[in-house]
Amino acid sequence: MEIRKGIAVSPGIAFARAIVIDSKDYRIPRRAILPSQVADEVHRVDEAFSGAVHQLSVLESRQSVDESSLKDIFAVHRRFLQDESFRKRIIDVIQQEMVTAEFAVSTILHEIAVHLSSVEDLYISERAADIYDIQKRLLTELLGNVTESVDHLSEEVVVIAHNLTPTQTAGFNKTYVRGFATEAGGRTSHTAILARSLGIPAVVAMEDITAQVTASSKVIIDGNRGVVVIDPDEATIEEYREYAESLHKFETRLGSLRDKPAETRDGVRITLLGNIEFPDEAVLVKNKGGDGIGLYRTEFLYLYSGSEPTEQDHYEAYAETVRAFQGKPVVIRTMDLGADKLPTTQGHPPEANPVLGLRSIRYCLEHLSLFKTQLRAILRASVLGDVRIMFPLITNLQELRQARMILRDVMEDLDEYAAPYNPMIQVGIMIETPSAALTSSLLAIDSDFFSIGTNDLIQYTLAVDRGNEHVSSLYAFADPAILSLIRSVIHDANKAKIGLSVCGEIASEPEYIMLLLGMGIRTLSLAPPMIPEVKQIIRSVSTKECNHLARKVATMDAPRQIKNYVRDAAMKIMPEAF
Ligand code: PEP
Ligand code: MG
Repeated sequence: MEIRKGIAVSPGIAFARAIVIDSKDYRIPRRAILPSQVADEVHRVDEAFSGAVHQLSVLESRQSVDESSLKDIFAVHRRFLQDESFRKRIIDVIQQEMVTAEFAVSTILHEIAVHLSSVEDLYISERAADIYDIQKRLLTELLGNVTESVDHLSEEVVVIAHNLTPTQTAGFNKTYVRGFATEAGGRTSHTAILARSLGIPAVVAMEDITAQVTASSKVIIDGNRGVVVIDPDEATIEEYREYAESLHKFETRLGSLRDKPAETRDGVRITLLGNIEFPDEAVLVKNKGGDGIGLYRTEFLYLYSGSEPTEQDHYEAYAETVRAFQGKPVVIRTMDLGADKLPTTQGHPPEANPVLGLRSIRYCLEHLSLFKTQLRAILRASVLGDVRIMFPLITNLQELRQARMILRDVMEDLDEYAAPYNPMIQVGIMIETPSAALTSSLLAIDSDFFSIGTNDLIQYTLAVDRGNEHVSSLYAFADPAILSLIRSVIHDANKAKIGLSVCGEIASEPEYIMLLLGMGIRTLSLAPPMIPEVKQIIRSVSTKECNHLARKVATMDAPRQIKNYVRDAAMKIMPEAF
């Protein structure tokens, strides 16, 4: 048994056999074979070894003579691949355990690598990396470039990967994928956000986890405490069973809040909206007691289908969402493509700094036909309920005015066809760049509402990649720079008397709810599964207490001090959430 700690990104407990998708997306499941297939599998191993030796010769021939260190490495690999006893160990596994060649290769090489890395001599322990290299070479031979997809599963698994894209995560079959752990990622990466929305327990920033877990490992994912247990013993399994049960009881208790208002003890009503990526999640928001949709991340329509959605595709998705929320607000954010949300089929040219590149509203303003198609569909759906439009990543007033002008063009097009739409539709923007926060008094002139996107606001203000595990400790909502920007946005929105909400992941963090209320926020949009917990906190506090807490925080200068202070306050109210 091995216990590893990472960053908890999606709550819940999962326990299942592991599926390892390495950085090349190979899936190496344990697959049984028939006795009649053993000879074929052994033959595949022989072929893979010959192929891997050939790969080495090709690579060697491409190196210049003076790259002797590379030649040494290739020599080690070659010796290994020509070692008969090594090949025999793999063949023994196939013959004795009746499993596929790739499974036998991944199991034996993993065993050898683990053994080597435990040796104290540095030279020997570092050879583990060579073993993983050889493993990759052999698997390339065995599996080629054909990657199996994790959505053709027939048993429950937890996915272990170097990294997962939001598109991969969105494609998981929730019946079988019970949880995941990745080496890369951060708490507000879109993969993490999706995991929370889908209710899949997940832990990220697990260095080298793909090297430690094999396809025969059983793994516990503890998405509440950010722990991964590899091959747990019986006592640990039992402990986790009890813990999962207590979490389930807590959730059931919170379920009774569904139809109760999110109202503080002194009678201040807070609006709790849901963040969704897919139209069918609207029902989940409703079931969790949400008051509408505060952020519909429509780019997933694009990412999931892998092709550009037609106007009808857009319309049907919006209509489904709006119908689930008759009379309640549904804020449709126009496509926020780019950065980590890249369509697989579209020729999106690679950029050196995609987060600072042609993404989001900038991309839409450059691709007007795509943008207009979406706007037309949103306008058509606007007669079905309280639909609102939100533009992402606005950085200046000109950009907002340009987007609004295109919206007016689309309205005129619809007029020509006498197609009905709501001409008074509310149009708001996300405040998620420092420039937008610093000019919020100007942006308020042309906005019906603001929604503060703390995920990107933190990333851009503190210059910390939100999905990079190496800098995750620097990514802090409690940084005085962030709090100061938020205070000024709240001030400007109130002065202009426009709507204001927070839709970044911070709105689903129980420890920060009192601070947000104390700073004056009255509408939160969050991951649907977190609505009950946040509602419970709101119903347990008074605005007076929250104001006091926010005033105290304003006197503090260290993010850690602020974090500990707000966490202690929230823990007193709802210890079960921590
Ligand atoms: C944000 O940036 O806070 C936000 C809500 O948008 P996204 O997470 O989709 O970038
Ligand atoms: Mg954003």
